[in-house]
Amino acid sequence: MATKCIFVTGGVVSSLGKGLASASIGCLLESRGLRVTLLKFDPYINVDPGTMSPFQHGEVYVTYDGAETDLDLGHYERFTHVQMSKLNNVTAGKIYYTVISKERRGDYLGGTVQVVPHITNEIKEAVLRIFRDDLDVVIVEVGGTVGDIESLPFLEAIRQFRKDRGADNVIYIHLTLVPHIAAADELKTKPTQHSVNKLREIGIQPDILLCRTDRFLTPEIKAKISLFCNVSPEAVITAKDVESIYEVPLVLHREGIDRIIVELLRIDAPECNLEEWEGIVSKIKNPKHTVNISIVGKYVNLKDSYKSLGEALHHGGIANETAVKLNWIDAERVEAEGAEIHLSDANGILVPGGFGNRGTEGKVESIRWARENGIPFLGICLGMQCAVIEFARNVAGLTEANSSEFDLRTPHPVIDLLPGQSGIKEKGGTMRLGHYPCYISKDSIAFNAYKSLVALERHRHRYEFNTSYRERFEKYGMKITGESQDGALVEIVELKGHPWFFACQFHPELQSRPMSPHPVFCDFIKAALEHKNTKLKIDREDDLDFANREIGG
Ligand code: GLN
Repeated sequence: MATKCIFVTGGVVSSLGKGLASASIGCLLESRGLRVTLLKFDPYINVDPGTMSPFQHGEVYVTYDGAETDLDLGHYERFTHVQMSKLNNVTAGKIYYTVISKERRGDYLGGTVQVVPHITNEIKEAVLRIFRDDLDVVIVEVGGTVGDIESLPFLEAIRQFRKDRGADNVIYIHLTLVPHIAAADELKTKPTQHSVNKLREIGIQPDILLCRTDRFLTPEIKAKISLFCNVSPEAVITAKDVESIYEVPLVLHREGIDRIIVELLRIDAPECNLEEWEGIVSKIKNPKHTVNISIVGKYVNLKDSYKSLGEALHHGGIANETAVKLNWIDAERVEAEGAEIHLSDANGILVPGGFGNRGTEGKVESIRWARENGIPFLGICLGMQCAVIEFARNVAGLTEANSSEFDLRTPHPVIDLLPGQSGIKEKGGTMRLGHYPCYISKDSIAFNAYKSLVALERHRHRYEFNTSYRERFEKYGMKITGESQDGALVEIVELKGHPWFFACQFHPELQSRPMSPHPVFCDFIKAALEHKNTKLKIDREDDLDFANREIGG
């Protein structure tokens, strides 16, 4: 069978969950035994999102091969078994960069280089680049909203794609909004009609409509959308809001989406087997315990900035049948108001990755609170660097210690650039990126979690633990329990005498999946749960003591 292709576009407004819808379609097709992969097109001019602020773009997801990509690739990896690579996210910037480089090289000598056909050909090439003989379906999500100027070359290219490969091999799915207007108590189909009209203007007739709503569409509404949008009524799918994102595949399956897809693409595939997926959702919905995890960060007002982190914490919850309540705390507020008022109800504290000086003193203060009060602590990337700074200042007697990222003149740059890196002028794609092996010592929190002496973990950072301080820190009770193969780079630090303190230079959250939660997150949540129960027991004993004394006195 030739590899088939599904294009997913979005209309009306952004943020309707096109990435999750694409990932869920991937999940459903896999659960029918099909081999899939996904590709995300982003219509902005940045060559990759690595140079954009998380406030602008949300999380930068790093693939195993070191590409800095859109956060939707994280959804793709969490919902399917596919491993994303640098080929799976292509921006308009990357397309134009390739075409302009070819033009400079003289590849088009004599020709006028134009959007159609040169840019559109390059877009089609990017799709074909991920086609493989062993793949049944390639799902391509086109970022942006239909009607945007920037998306036009992508839409033109995908229009041509069906003509090139035949109608049985390519379908279009369009995600729109069907809002409920409270005053009239009515669902409105007009935005969907307009959005489909816009698509048809450029020659694309959608085959399936995914209608995002807060309630199920009645057969009458589906009939109306079907009539106006020229789509069969059963291909008008309700994409209803759900409590947990992991319910999306189940809801779409109940609406029949995977059956319609295989029919339209003429694929002979067995029925869906969603048993495992249903098990996950049932665990999420029926937790036995709860814990409070406080995340002290800089980009806390935009949850998308820490997308994979939030998911990994929930996966750790699934493994412990625990609902994980996430408290997002602005590090600058801890800096201004102290740790206690923000962190006294935390069963676990997490300091995530980040860039730049702002808020770092609040992060250091939060880590001091976790260390001194025996609260389970997980530090990731910048979080590890702050843990090293905290230890240097408050335990190892180097009161002016800092990272040279925040203070170039610190007398103790305990976190520093690697030799040779200070000369790098370019900013895009020049960090330590992608997966590297981390060698783990026995008798550590790390070994307890990984149950292995080596782990492959993904990185995205420029600064490192300065190993000239290693001996001093070890003397004061820091344990280095993970390092690079040659021992030159420190990957994991722990603390002697603390119940659960784990800080790593890599990003474990990027490899956590609902079906296989990352072991570090499982153990962090477990430690937080134990901390909560111990604290509860001590509080109760104190109350009892107090009551006895009151009665006695
Ligand atoms: N800013 C730090 C560095 O570049 C940490 C990066 C991160 O947390 N991802 O090393």
